[in-house]
Amino acid sequence: PDPALRPERLAEDTDRALRPQGLEEFIGQQEARANLRVFIEAARMRGEAMDHTLFHGPPGLGKTTLAQIMARELGVGFRMTSGPVLAKPGDLAAILTNLEPRDVLFIDEIHRLSPVVEEVLYPALEDFALDLVIGEGPAARTVRIDLQPFTLVGATTRLGLLTTPLRDRFGIPTRLEFYTEAELHEIVSRGARLLGVEAEPDGCREIARRARGTPRIAGRLLRRVVDFALVEAGGRISRALADRALTRLGVDQLGLDGADRRYLSLLAENYGGGPVGVETIAAALSEPRDAIEEVIEPYLLQQGLILRTPRGRMLGAKAWRHLGLEAPKPPGQ
Ligand code: ADP
Repeated sequence: PDPALRPERLAEDTDRALRPQGLEEFIGQQEARANLRVFIEAARMRGEAMDHTLFHGPPGLGKTTLAQIMARELGVGFRMTSGPVLAKPGDLAAILTNLEPRDVLFIDEIHRLSPVVEEVLYPALEDFALDLVIGEGPAARTVRIDLQPFTLVGATTRLGLLTTPLRDRFGIPTRLEFYTEAELHEIVSRGARLLGVEAEPDGCREIARRARGTPRIAGRLLRRVVDFALVEAGGRISRALADRALTRLGVDQLGLDGADRRYLSLLAENYGGGPVGVETIAAALSEPRDAIEEVIEPYLLQQGLILRTPRGRMLGAKAWRHLGLEAPKPPGQ
């Protein structure tokens, strides 16, 4: 299975309807939000570009949304690109030289910038300048071009893959956490309201409970449940309808999907619960290692369904129970 086809990766959030527009509308991430409010306000009072900001955390938690909100609240322009798209130094230079004063430049998947492009970024971040090399060999010289002051907002699902010099250049590193059920309940209720569907609180709660702690997944599940409600329940989302729809979508009681369950079953049935190295898991599931580590594992770890040990991944007691299997007894007991 192609991880690009995992539902939460689909470009369905191109639909703007559910995206919060301002910091006030953004639900959850209390601490990050409170800090950002201060830094945005301070930058506005000084009339300066806000400090460079790094958002890290699993996909779908609101990194892009927060970057857009920052630009809107700062009253500046928003430009968006991503690490893998910037192949040559010139690609980044072209974007940087076109920024207006104090603009927000968002670089998604910033851990995937190529080293030569990253080199261009350092003086840009530190001195708002580009160092261009002109000519070749002994005649080569460097010319410095001034840039407009700007704010880089980087997003990454893998903080550990960022080089230290790049990480050090972000004045505001911000970790995004999985959302609580109560926060997701609020997000789903708001979504239902914006979509104009009738939803009982218990119906919204059922979707929230099974959204894997992730607003993007909550939005996707809501849309699908709305489809079932329209066709089978006169447009009304009750708890029973939500439960039936989610089960038919392959989302279980813990909110796990087929890929999550394949991962857990593999560990249980083929490796006695582990420990198993991530490379072995990736090969057995035919998924790239990145997808395993960035998409599947963070939520399983957060839920205590798996544990990370120096010798590899292990199933937690909760996972054995969830699979309806007996955990093997440790030797000698
Ligand atoms: P990321 O960049 O971290 O992958 P996004 O910012 O693209 O995540 O958010 C994914 C989806 O979830 C978007 O459609 C967005 O509207 C929604 N979303 C994210 N955070 C929130 C939130 N706090 N409240 C409501 N919706 C949210």
